[in-house]
Amino acid sequence: MNVHETEKLYAAFEKEGCCREEKPEAADIIVFNTCCVREGAETRVLGNLGRIKHLKAAKPDLIVAVCGCMTQQRSAAEMLHKRCPFINVITGTYSLALLPNMVKAVERGEKFILDLEVNETVPVGANEAVRSDNVNSFVNIMYGCNNFCTYCIVPYVKGRERSRKLADIVNEVRSLLDRGVKEITLLGQNVNSYNDGENDFYALLSELSALPGDFWIKFMTSHPKDLSDDVIRLIGRQRKLANYIHLPVQSGSDRILKAMNRRYDTAAYMHKIDMIREYIPDAGITADVIVGFPTETDEDFRATVDLVRRVRYNNLFMFIYSKRNGTPAAVMDGQISEAVKKARIAELITVQAKIARELAEKAVGKTFLALCDGRGKNATAKTYDDRVIVFDDGGEDYYNSFVNIEVTGTKNSKLYGKIRK
Ligand code: SF4
Repeated sequence: MNVHETEKLYAAFEKEGCCREEKPEAADIIVFNTCCVREGAETRVLGNLGRIKHLKAAKPDLIVAVCGCMTQQRSAAEMLHKRCPFINVITGTYSLALLPNMVKAVERGEKFILDLEVNETVPVGANEAVRSDNVNSFVNIMYGCNNFCTYCIVPYVKGRERSRKLADIVNEVRSLLDRGVKEITLLGQNVNSYNDGENDFYALLSELSALPGDFWIKFMTSHPKDLSDDVIRLIGRQRKLANYIHLPVQSGSDRILKAMNRRYDTAAYMHKIDMIREYIPDAGITADVIVGFPTETDEDFRATVDLVRRVRYNNLFMFIYSKRNGTPAAVMDGQISEAVKKARIAELITVQAKIARELAEKAVGKTFLALCDGRGKNATAKTYDDRVIVFDDGGEDYYNSFVNIEVTGTKNSKLYGKIRK
């Protein structure tokens, strides 16, 4: 999602006559768009700022701005200002579209701007972005989150859920399709609770999949409690909705799910998986899992391993629990030692690697509809169920075309194939 926020920042600056520089040495303005959802954001940002400090010393007019969800947290913004007094602008997630104005104010002589104002309207310029990729384009359909999972910082730095108007989204998608984009990925922290006051996610998907042209739609992220059976059935029967669902489970233990405030249990989650398997038989299912949440016992962890074995995900994004200051879980009793967390994730990685290898081997000999997003001897194409196949294009240009590819072999669960004409 941050990649798309950065695309929107490019658009906001381009509107003011700026152009992109590949090297920081050539830039007059350097913007760091931060993310604190994953671990280590502060260390990375401090490291990157350290690397450009000498540029600011050599070129005092250079403007340095830091924005994004890390700096939406006042404590992080103040820490950065103290440690890196050469920064000219610090803002959070709400005022990204206003960043060029803040930069202009610095050009007019302001020494330092700190803008952490919370503005929970849909961001200005929400539908303007400079996309570097014409195969896949991201489209934000909503912002924020109401769920307050106890480990997650998002609701505190991105605010409550607010959805863009359906007509605006449809117009944006239509213009992307007119430009030749073939894959649209709808983005939101919880796309299934999309609601613009008149239309829900089902209505949005129905409207988008009725647009003319050869394309498909993917979306992320789905919350298991909000993914409706109707949406699952719609994906099953509507060809333009790709057979891919990312459905984060986070834990296979009901006790831990409750402590995480996920508001579903494993039975409800497995019901969704069963529905997906029934109505979308070839669905690619992926998920996120957190290992070592506070108080997680061996038994809880075994339940997670067991669930992963039952679902057999195409891909699993596995994370060691790490504290996010300001979240309830960060101050919970029963924090798990690093050694235990590492041992558990190592076991889970091994389990998932075996599943991924087996699924890859099962794909050999099958032909997949895929969208080509690379060229050359190791060209790549993304399948309808979101797997990547590597193939040799033999000098022909398949880029941004739908192709049929037969999987001819695998290596470390990576798929290799050849074009079927
Ligand atoms: S659903 Fe939970 S994990 Fe996802 S963004 Fe919202 S609070 Fe965070």
